[in-house]
Amino acid sequence: MNAVPQYDVIVVGGGGAGLAAAIEARKLGRAVLLLEKNPAPGGSTAWSIGSITSSATPHQIARGIKDCPADHWADMPAFAGDLASRDNDELRRILCDEVPDAFRWLLACGVRFYGPVAEPPHRKPRMHTVLPNSGSYIYHLQRHARRLGVKILTHTRARELIAEGGRVCGVSCEERGQRREFRARGAVVLAAGDFTNSAELKGRFMGPQEAKIEGVNLTATGDGQLMAEKLGARILNGDLALGPEIRFIAPARDTLVRLLPPWPALALFMQWALEHLPQAILRPFLMRFLTTALAPSPGIFQSGAILVNKQGRRFCDECDRPAYALPDQPDQVAYIVIDARIATLYSAWPNFVSTAPGVAYAYIPDYRRSRPDIYSAAASLDELAHKLGMDAGVLAATVRTSNDAAQSRMGASRAMPPLAAPYTALGPVRAVFVHNEGGLAVDTEHRVLDQDAKAIPGLYAAGSTGQGGLLLKGHGHHLAWAFVSGRRAGRFAAYNAVSEDLH
Ligand SMILES: Cc1cc2nc3c(=O)[nH]c(=O)nc-3n(C[C@H](O)[C@H](O)[C@H](O)COP(=O)(O)OP(=O)(O)OC[C@H]3O[C@@H](n4cnc5c(N)ncnc54)[C@H](O)[C@@H]3O)c2cc1C
Repeated sequence: MNAVPQYDVIVVGGGGAGLAAAIEARKLGRAVLLLEKNPAPGGSTAWSIGSITSSATPHQIARGIKDCPADHWADMPAFAGDLASRDNDELRRILCDEVPDAFRWLLACGVRFYGPVAEPPHRKPRMHTVLPNSGSYIYHLQRHARRLGVKILTHTRARELIAEGGRVCGVSCEERGQRREFRARGAVVLAAGDFTNSAELKGRFMGPQEAKIEGVNLTATGDGQLMAEKLGARILNGDLALGPEIRFIAPARDTLVRLLPPWPALALFMQWALEHLPQAILRPFLMRFLTTALAPSPGIFQSGAILVNKQGRRFCDECDRPAYALPDQPDQVAYIVIDARIATLYSAWPNFVSTAPGVAYAYIPDYRRSRPDIYSAAASLDELAHKLGMDAGVLAATVRTSNDAAQSRMGASRAMPPLAAPYTALGPVRAVFVHNEGGLAVDTEHRVLDQDAKAIPGLYAAGSTGQGGLLLKGHGHHLAWAFVSGRRAGRFAAYNAVSEDLH
């Protein structure tokens, strides 16, 4: 019989947190195995826009911005609002203290950024955007990890943690239908992402309607949380998420910017261009970046846009959480219908259709140029129905009823003129969760805690899996946590594997 392969540290998950953990454990001379269930590392890190928020970066310093971790820590609760009392202040301290170093570490690994960009209520500009896209994190960290000697196994899904005498000492996996076991002399780090696409966990913590709504990242199924729960771990803030919200479907083919290779020279050129070239020259390029899978601004509905399903029927009050009604519609898709008045209104600042935080705003003409796949213009409702494959009579009746309702509200607070020809439809849109906050309870060394708040020996968690009740509102804090907690968890896990002569 083959011997069970042994490593010092096993990391479950090859997103930002897992790669950071594996690199740091390996740099301490440990034998490290990283398990990734998908054909390639990436996870939500690769799906992200890529913004990361930090004080005291070289980018801030170059602009003469004097900032510090303590001010970053003090500013964050303003993003959390009423939820601030549920935050984990200690982990927030670690996040803010450590992210400047993690940022420099990413730079040293070859990742390049644009910024910083202001995002009030941060008192200083702190948001930085990765160049050319979020694939850069994975490309550079994976390369670095392999060069250092981290063993990366893809197509290998961790199914169960192996524990002996109360200590986690291995992982049982499924690799292309085969069961495999790996042993960890030191520890296991769970970095398997969030549970935006686990119907079970969303149903348990959020509700039955939320359970029907998919995550942007379909493979974010909460495997780390579920495996650790079996050993007595707890999930904190499972009810909190970004979403559900309606988002335009992503283009069928990758946009130019997502296809750009993350070469340092290209990233540096982009950084220079973003800092020096006028917006008019950059705009067509930025728009290709922008219009991937972004959320339409709720303002467009307050201005009178309506949402119709693929049969042409209106199915909700667009201003009252439309994402909750969308999963019950045919094929779970809908279209935003506007007229020339709204199209003109949303063609210039301050009325934008969508935004990619820190990068730019997109208006109706940008969607017409950059996303013809989700932009349909028509002189009449008949023509629009034909383009969208709807019954013209149903769509006409929907708009008539909606206009009657708008008329009857004239003079009321939400009064608006009726929709009139010509028309434009944007869509399909879907309801999705972008990310969620439900991570395992951990201590300040990222050890996973049980129901009695005692550390489970040999088990660490990082990134979304090890969020520990930390609130990461605002932009750029999730990635900041992935890299900060991943690096730290990797180091602490490595310290569990010591030379034999010390035993
Ligand atoms: C569309 C979108 C935009 C976003 N934009 C931003 C942004 O601009 N800034 C920001 O800060 N945050 C952003 N976020 C959130 C951010 O991307 C995530 O919170 C962060 O990347 C989480 O990193 P992670 O390493 O914990 O998880 P992930 O990056 O999801 O990595 C987890 C990895 O574990 C693997 N895995 C899961 N289960 C198993 C298993 N059983 N066995 C083996 N492998 C497994 C997964 O396949 C995946 O590769 C965005 C998220 C999305 C979806």
